[in-house]
Amino acid sequence: MSGQRRTMTSDGTPGDLSRRNLLRGTALIAGGALIGGAHVATAGAALAAPQPTIYARSAWSARPPTSAATVLATPPTYIVVHHTATANSTNYTQAHAFSLSRSIQNYHMDSNGWADTGQQLTISRGGYIMEGRNRSLPAIRAGDQVVGAHVANYNNVAVGIENEGLYTSATPTTALYNSLVATCAWLCTVYNRPTSAIIGHRDLNATACPGDRLYAMLPQLRRDVGARLAATGLAALRGADLAAHELPPYPATPRAGRTTPFEHGPALGSRDPNHATG
Ligand SMILES: [Zn+2]
Repeated sequence: MSGQRRTMTSDGTPGDLSRRNLLRGTALIAGGALIGGAHVATAGAALAAPQPTIYARSAWSARPPTSAATVLATPPTYIVVHHTATANSTNYTQAHAFSLSRSIQNYHMDSNGWADTGQQLTISRGGYIMEGRNRSLPAIRAGDQVVGAHVANYNNVAVGIENEGLYTSATPTTALYNSLVATCAWLCTVYNRPTSAIIGHRDLNATACPGDRLYAMLPQLRRDVGARLAATGLAALRGADLAAHELPPYPATPRAGRTTPFEHGPALGSRDPNHATG
């Protein structure tokens, strides 16, 4: 696996995530730097993980939904990490990120027949963070949740983050990872959830998503989010854990050789309130 290690390129574009970059990112976070467009608070700053820069639907020219999303006045139990199971693009531009959001929306609406794009948030390999399903950003800021279509039978208790790429054998870019840390820290803050609420799609559904490599990084992700929460004065959340009744079922993942059809789904189930419309 050592052959897959690459560092940041000289022009600042992200390479594959390596332990060196992970450590570097952690050090920068502790120092209160500007990373991935997110201002990291230092001691004495406001006691909340700030919202990273998130591009609203208007920025990426989203289509209108066929019906308005349902907003629940309850926080989600889970923050679900997905991969898009799309190509590991080396185009790290904002234009590509916005195109990705449009492509996912088109697929969800035109191929799946859903009312809108399924996930609440999308992160590109260039580290750009986009609003997904309609009403998502205002709902999150208010501590509410939009019912999405990304994790079967749990869509009324889960906020979903789609991370661009296929992480069965590759790892995310540093830019994507840093934006994922910032996004999860913000979600833990606004929803008052512990870092253990950050789980993979496979913890709730029988799927390979978010890929073996990204899934294996979730403990590190929780630690990095915890470090950021601690830096913003929210250390109490870091050591908290899910209540017993909140523990995910951790269903068996598909057998080797059968993973391709399950690289992402299932996203909707009969127990979801929006099972008919997505
Ligand atoms: Zn997924």
